[in-house]
Amino acid sequence: MTEHGTGQTVPRAHSAAQTHPGRKRPQNQDSIHMDDGHGLWVLADGMGGHQGGEIASAIACEEIPAAIADSKPLQEALRVAHRKILARGEQQPALRGLGTTVVVIHQQGHQYELAWSGDSRIYRWRKGRLQQLSEDHSVVARMLRAGLISDEQARTHPHQHVISSCLGTTSGDGLEIGYKIETWEKGDWLLLCSDGLTDELEDETIAAFLQQHTDLDAASQALLQAALEAGGRDNVSVALIEAPAAAPEGMSPHRPLHPAIWAVLGSVLALVVLLAIKLLRPE
Ligand code: CA
Repeated sequence: MTEHGTGQTVPRAHSAAQTHPGRKRPQNQDSIHMDDGHGLWVLADGMGGHQGGEIASAIACEEIPAAIADSKPLQEALRVAHRKILARGEQQPALRGLGTTVVVIHQQGHQYELAWSGDSRIYRWRKGRLQQLSEDHSVVARMLRAGLISDEQARTHPHQHVISSCLGTTSGDGLEIGYKIETWEKGDWLLLCSDGLTDELEDETIAAFLQQHTDLDAASQALLQAALEAGGRDNVSVALIEAPAAAPEGMSPHRPLHPAIWAVLGSVLALVVLLAIKLLRPE
């Protein structure tokens, strides 16, 4: 249990994370901020030359927690980081154009807020089912949502890395921030990751690895290792968060009817048919 800023005692969620430069890149431009005590987790994937990417993702991981500690709403915290990154580019022209994607989870008791900008992702792993909760801010994801291309075409599209929004970059002024509120169910895991994971592993493969593990550390290490073995062409970051132990039990999404209920329904139906035949038969 932990005290949040509100003074309310809330159950604590636990997390584990891995980040790695990968097999091809000299630097790791991803940054992670994990704070189980305050229920705040940030993962950012930076971009830009002259160390701009590393600096942008680090600013996101410093400024968002600072803004939350200052009681700013989550979306405003992302805007604060956005402005700080833009300001850094103004101060150091060599860094101009630096930017970063970001995904954030902020726990609120039995609920949690999600916010994101860019194509890093948040997935929920619940009862053996992997569901992406964030929606990529990318040109290809927009085309997919509009039904213009198939899943397969999206995976191999030449513009799949063109993002339509992120913190910092000066191209255009339309910062997009995705935002949702969700409720924990006992046993839920959240997966936060950079595209270094999802470019190497399809959702089905990620789900298969999660299925094999009950320990957050072991699962995050297995995912990282699999991404490296699949090529590790980009920096890879993986964070897993487990629902607080006191989270409410969920309903099974597709709970089958008990066989006894089917038996009773079958008997009732047979009785109705027999009765109908008896009534309708001419004397
Ligand atoms: Ca990346």
